[in-house]
Amino acid sequence: MRPLVHVVHGATPGEVLQYRYARGEMNTQEYERRLVGPRRHPNEEDAMKVTDPVCGMEFKEEKAVAKVEYQGTTYYFCTDACRRQFEQEPAKYVPSEGGVS
Ligand SMILES: [Zn+2]
Repeated sequence: MRPLVHVVHGATPGEVLQYRYARGEMNTQEYERRLVGPRRHPNEEDAMKVTDPVCGMEFKEEKAVAKVEYQGTTYYFCTDACRRQFEQEPAKYVPSEGGVS
């Protein structure tokens, strides 16, 4: 066995696009349209924003004072007080998925 051939796995869609664009398989307009894709973030900061379920405040994930994992989801809090409030009654702040009615 001679591991001479390395298949490159895990190229991102963006990389594949860049490659195809570089090969002239698409024009600039097409390239940019595909690069943006159906899901677009105005900027990177928006993508990293989280919402405190207790007070509804939005902030960047790195600014979160506390975080709690509940039913497989991580929730972020602006203060420890919000976290405590959440922990006392998490169901009150989490939209129910299982049809509790
Ligand atoms: Zn809060």
